[in-house]
Amino acid sequence: MKQYAIIGLGRFGTSVAKTLYGMEYEVLGMDTDEDKVQDAVDYVTHAVTADSTDENALKALGIRNFDVVVVAIGADIQASILTALILKEQGVKHIVAKAQNELHGKVLSKIGVDKVVYPERDMGVRVAHNLISPNILDYIELSPDYSMAEIVAGEKMLGKTLAEVDFRRKYRCNVMAIKTDDKINISPLANDKIHKGDVLVVIGKNEDLQDLEEEA
Ligand code: ATP
Repeated sequence: MKQYAIIGLGRFGTSVAKTLYGMEYEVLGMDTDEDKVQDAVDYVTHAVTADSTDENALKALGIRNFDVVVVAIGADIQASILTALILKEQGVKHIVAKAQNELHGKVLSKIGVDKVVYPERDMGVRVAHNLISPNILDYIELSPDYSMAEIVAGEKMLGKTLAEVDFRRKYRCNVMAIKTDDKINISPLANDKIHKGDVLVVIGKNEDLQDLEEEA
């Protein structure tokens, strides 16, 4: 069973910790704020009050034995960077850190953080795509050029098979899955039909997805 440590129990850290704990993983939650640590006892395996910029405190907790450590400190950029550096020096196998802005993210990457996440920026992108078309339920950037989108099937597609819509040629996008109510078809075939209310999980180049969004 993988063990996770979450440093910083703000909104982001709490959400990560709750989700992992809900999936029955072992989760250590750490914060300097005693009240936050008290609140966390219901959704983490162990909750500790400690300062992650204190090397000895991290060593005493055996932080290097955790499979993944998430640095969920945002506002205090200095504390976030120092924490990441100490974790790296102590040989933590996999570090994920939240960045406040691009420069913060760059520094974290240079230190050797394995995955830098930008929750506010990414959520902004998702909301903006949903504003362009209310049929876009979700939007995830896979790389600067490619993304994945969840799109409610448009009128023009209803009653047609994937082959008839001619997705690949018409929109240059691939349909990875079709969601119908609470069922999901994860390997749709060319002759699978699209019904009213279906949600298509589509992958493609950003500009091609945008054409599809505008038509959907
Ligand atoms: P969010 O948006 O996730 O609510 P945020 O980006 O505003 O959070 P902060 O509130 O600055 O980030 O930090 C998140 C949590 O990290 C806070 O609860 C704070 O007490 C905790 N924290 C900050 N510095 C440290 C530290 N050195 N060690 C442990 N916890 C820390």
